[in-house]
Amino acid sequence: MIIPCHNEEGNIPILVEKILNEIDHYDKEIILIDDGSTDGTLDAIKNVAANHQAVKYIQFSKNFGHQNAIKAGLDLSKGAAVIMMDADLQHPPKTLKALLEKWKEGYEIVYTQRKDHQALSFTKKITAYFFYKILNWLSGLKLDHSTADFRLLDRKVVDVVKNFHESDLFWRGITFWLGFKRAKISYQAEDRFSGTTKYPFSKMLSFAIKGITSFSVKPLRLSTIMGVIISALSLIYAAYAIALYIFTDRPVEGWTSLLVCILFLG
Ligand code: UDP
Ligand code: MG
Repeated sequence: MIIPCHNEEGNIPILVEKILNEIDHYDKEIILIDDGSTDGTLDAIKNVAANHQAVKYIQFSKNFGHQNAIKAGLDLSKGAAVIMMDADLQHPPKTLKALLEKWKEGYEIVYTQRKDHQALSFTKKITAYFFYKILNWLSGLKLDHSTADFRLLDRKVVDVVKNFHESDLFWRGITFWLGFKRAKISYQAEDRFSGTTKYPFSKMLSFAIKGITSFSVKPLRLSTIMGVIISALSLIYAAYAIALYIFTDRPVEGWTSLLVCILFLG
């Protein structure tokens, strides 16, 4: 299990306890990644690690972000299957068994879809909806809406992604793009147990842009095409202005040179 934690001190003891209850009979390791927390998260992690042999941790030197914390966890994980989940109990530990069941059936990626529920704010629902619409349109991926970084990866998949040297990680896209035998399960999201969201609107927007630009060349193509069209139109207009200057006496003094300069620079 890998769990990125950024200022989650109030969630860690109960989260670990619930996970251990759910998958008690499995041979397991729980890797908690302290992603530059400024509260008592690291102490809480050390505390559970001292009490449970299965718990290990990684301490980041500063906040590197959720997606990088997942990468660090994957790099260090040793299990035959690896599950990543949030630390705030929104991804309910009671779903773990269903993930493992699917894996035992032979699926190599088991991802999850949140059944939308009332606890999610209206803005979260609406921004998530548009995010997936735009991302899928631009990238040609067919990501399911309401999927989060709550999924199981078989060792085979983990070994592949460990060799990824992407600097802008976007696990939803990467794990979709990889292929492999995939299965989906639905879960009822819980409320955040304690603390506040680490994804305010500004961060969500930059996450969305990262997702779109790392999986699509469409924005680049679009700007190239628009640039070519605008240049062509400018060229035609400049030619027209020059023709007016040469063949008529209509242009005001200085208009042609000024216009051609502006069009060229523009
Ligand atoms: N997280 C992290 N580093 C960050 C931001 C978030 O490790 O810079 C972790 C956070 O502790 C949580 C998970 O990523 O375990 C998802 O964050 P959060 O629950 O705040 O996002 P939300 O569910 O509100 O979208
Ligand atoms: Mg959350």
